[in-house]
Formats: sequence, C-alpha cells, structure tokens
Amino acid sequence: RPRVLSGIQPTADSFTLGNYLGAVRNWVAMQDDYDAFYMVVDLHAITVEQDPATLRRRTRVAAAQLLAAGLDPQRCALFVQSHVPEHAQLGWVMSCLTGFGEASRMTQFKDKSAKQGSGAASVGLFTYPILQVADILLYQANYVPVGEDQRQHLELSRDLAQRFNGRYGKTFTVPEPYIVKDTAKIMDLQDPGAKMSKSAESPAGLIELLADPKVNAKKIRSAVTDTEREIRFDEVSKPGVSNLLRIYAALGERSIADLEQEYVGKGYGDLKKDLAELVTETFTPFKERTEQFLADEGKLDAILAEGGEKARAVAAKTLAEVYERIGFVPR
Ligand code: ATP
Ligand code: MG
Repeated sequence: RPRVLSGIQPTADSFTLGNYLGAVRNWVAMQDDYDAFYMVVDLHAITVEQDPATLRRRTRVAAAQLLAAGLDPQRCALFVQSHVPEHAQLGWVMSCLTGFGEASRMTQFKDKSAKQGSGAASVGLFTYPILQVADILLYQANYVPVGEDQRQHLELSRDLAQRFNGRYGKTFTVPEPYIVKDTAKIMDLQDPGAKMSKSAESPAGLIELLADPKVNAKKIRSAVTDTEREIRFDEVSKPGVSNLLRIYAALGERSIADLEQEYVGKGYGDLKKDLAELVTETFTPFKERTEQFLADEGKLDAILAEGGEKARAVAAKTLAEVYERIGFVPR
C-alpha cells in the first residue's frame, strides 16, 4: 500500500472547519487504502511562543479531535511528533542541504513573521518548512494530504528528496501533495481574501469545531458577503458567498450547482441559516466524542505512545540509512 503522512499543529483549543475539510477529513478517508501516519506536530507549534501547560493541553485536544473525526489507531499510526526524535535529527540533515535563499522564498514565513513585527520571528519559524521536509521523508511517504497553503512546502520536500538522492544515492521516496481541490482553501468568514487559520488573531471569522454551536451559528450569520442579492458561485467578485457555498457543498456532500439551483430567489440570510444548522448537526456529535476521548487521559496517552512506537520503527530505519549514506561512523 502507498504510504501517507500528515500533521496538524496544536496551536489552538479547537481545529477549524478549514483544518477539517482541507486535511483531517481526507486523512480519515485514506486510512484503509494507504499505510497512514498522522501526527500532532508539537515541534512545529513551538516556532511561535507557547505556554507549556497550554501546549500540553492542546496536544491532547488535537489528538482527541483526530480520534473523534474517525482516525482509528488500529488502522493508522497516530502519534506526537516530539515522541519520535528522528524528526529533529533528520531536520538537521535537511537544513544542511537547503540553500538560505531557497528557505527565504517560503511565503508562509513571510506571512507569519510579518504578524510578529520585524526581527521578532524565531529562527525555528524560518526553518520550519525544512523540519516538515524531514517529517515527510522519514516515512518515505508517497502522498501528503494537506491544504493548498502547504503546496510550496511540499515542493521543497520534493526538491530536497531529489537533491539527497542525487548526491548520496536513492534513499528517499519523492512525495506528492494530495490536495482535494474543492476544499483546499477554506476562507476566513470575516476576511474571505485570507485562509481560515486556527491561530488567527481574531476568532470572529473562524468556525471552530469545538465551539458552542450557537457561537458558530452567529459567526456564520455575520459572515462577510457582498451588496448583491444573488446566491451564485464566483470567487472573484463574490468571495464570501462562494466560500459559504463551498463549505455547504463539502459538508452536505452536494454540488455547488445544485445549491445555486436550490437558492434561486432566496436570500443570503436563508443560506446562512441553513448552513449554520448543517454545521451544528455535523459537529455536535464530534464535540461529544472529543470530550469522551479527553475524559480518559491515560487511555489517550497510551494510544499516542503506541502510535509513536509504530512511527519510530519506520523513522529509525530511514535515519540509519541516511546517516550511513552521509558518511557518519556507525555507533
Ligand atoms: P496555524 O494558524 O497554527 O498555522 P492552521 O489552521 O493553518 O493553524 P495547521 O496546523 O498549520 O493549521 O495545518 C493543518 C492542516 O490544515 C494542513 O494540512 C493545512 O494545509 C490545513 N489547512 C489549514 N487551514 C486550512 C484552510 N483554511 N483550508 C484548507 N485547509 C487548511
Ligand atoms: Mg498553518
């Protein structure tokens, strides 16, 4: 079976609908047809300042949400990145293979560092795409299911895999992004020009999966639209309405054309009300399941420990081969 690998950062108390539709839902769907490795990437989370107790809680909340979404530890390896030390080790090797200019071209760093003021961003935030390369290559992943925002980092993974293979002999599988077009970029409800991000400064435009359904319903009702009346999919001139249609279509498993038909002659208020109901229906049981997984912390930690063992077996093998090829004397 082809291998898949992906991760999510424990940078908030809840995943967003963007995380769910762009990534997590696809992870669940891929468990059986792929040899799947999924992780909570806590090493990546510390690229921006984290309070220790909060980070610990969010890591478990992230794992609980992944289980609630349908990841099954019998059918995939679910683990915490810091439990597998090979990530940091291969990360170093990869950073020595990356050009400074090459790393400087990563647009996500430019976006995220701009928010922190000049010079304030950490070196870790700068090199994080390289650690991500290590995450992927360690598992010899064929596919990486992610949202559109990760495409550039996936390109870097491919480049570095090929560079290493060229220099030291075929070692790594060259990974391919697995991006589902219709849900690859869910936009912020208040700023439909920007992607929805769980660690956004303002939560006003986020649908958070674990939020009180009433809060989400209110955010959907106040979503930014436009001054027309027509419910029509047009991402250029109607980005807000188009985003709502995308979300509706994805959650309701319907086509956008079908929705446009249904809402002929109806107003934005009708669309928002129905979407709010669909979101509530979908995520109320999700929230309950997440709380159940969190209630038994011992069991949750045991699941993660077991996933970490499975992951480590694969990661250690790759790292040993890499060290050998580079010319390190064996221990
Ligand atoms: P942060 O703000 O901390 O970076 P995030 O919401 O961007 O959080 P990540 O943990 O960085 O989430 O990414 C987890 C996965 O979710 C990645 O595969 C990413 O591509 C995907 N993803 C994030 N935001 C969206 C979005 N708005 N639409 C679709 N996919 C998304
Ligand atoms: Mg992100």
